[in-house]
Amino acid sequence: MNFLNQNLQQLTPYTPGEQPKIGTFIKLNTNENPYPPAPGVVTAVAESVANLALYADPTCQKLTKALAKELSVPTEAVFLGNGSDEVLAFCFQGFMEKGCAFPAITYGFYQVFSQLYQVTTKVIPLSVDLTVNLRDYQGLTEVILLANPNAPTGLVVGKEALVELVEENPQRLVIIDEAYIDFGGGSLVSETQHYPNLLVVGTFSKSRQLAGGRLGYAVGSSNLIQTLNTLKFSVNPYNINAMTQAAGIAVLADETYYQLALKKVLQTREWTKQALKKLGFHVTDSQGNFVFISHQKIAGEVLYQELKARNILVRWFNQAPIEEYIRVTIGTQEQMEIFIEELTKILEECRQ
Ligand SMILES: *Cc1c(COP(=O)(O)O)cnc(C)c1O
Repeated sequence: MNFLNQNLQQLTPYTPGEQPKIGTFIKLNTNENPYPPAPGVVTAVAESVANLALYADPTCQKLTKALAKELSVPTEAVFLGNGSDEVLAFCFQGFMEKGCAFPAITYGFYQVFSQLYQVTTKVIPLSVDLTVNLRDYQGLTEVILLANPNAPTGLVVGKEALVELVEENPQRLVIIDEAYIDFGGGSLVSETQHYPNLLVVGTFSKSRQLAGGRLGYAVGSSNLIQTLNTLKFSVNPYNINAMTQAAGIAVLADETYYQLALKKVLQTREWTKQALKKLGFHVTDSQGNFVFISHQKIAGEVLYQELKARNILVRWFNQAPIEEYIRVTIGTQEQMEIFIEELTKILEECRQ
């Protein structure tokens, strides 16, 4: 007997990247930050534990205020979620009765949420160079959802072009998923205060060392944010637990650490891109904390397997037209040097 609702029988859940035991693998497969959280986070979380018998503040007042300040928007413009995945889930639940348009190659969760919340989709192929062509998104009736930089290509759509799209479609909600924006590309956060049909979604998982803490956010007009709160208070008012609220506040309190870690990742990304090009790889102009690469001499799946056999985990997507690519998270400089060393050996072996 299968008790699942008839209309969810075909639901295919998201496949997260492998999370092996720490120590065995160099983990370059889920775009986490290679550096630990800011030192203040440890103390803040430890202190918050004393109050765990109580429910956390459902309005996340202190954290919301700190994030609003960081993003230079009013407090009423900020909504917090249990990871940006939860924020996106609320969007699919509450904003998409007219359907959702997104690129054929993008964050895999969009397809999963569409199925779960029975949202009709318009899936739009990328251009041959893997870029998103905004002309394809003109004149649709669906909500537009774009990851910028896009995943897993890392490619960016210019801020001006996106603003134009928002401006030309005042009746339609445009949601920009800026999970990787701190690593490159122009953020639309400040534009949210000018356009009531623009919602920007962000996360502490990639650039702020808090993937395990689960903290994401949305920035939009106070109207959109109120609606998100209505949804949240109808599902789980305590979606951000006390330890994560404390962690988030501590993360935002240490701007110096954040900037330093960001700079290191960006330097290592550029070093990695150069080293890969020297090895003959095609390297997309990724502005994220990852590179997206392919090589004429060796298939994407083989690259993934050969690296795994050498204890390096990367992400391979068995999906046309990107099946010859692998996505590689930018780790520490030391990790990336080992990655390049092992890749060099793999390429030498396949030449013999
Ligand atoms: C990682 C990622 C997310 C989800 O991040 P969480 O905040 O950890 O849920 C959302 N969108 C994109 C494009 C991502 O890469």
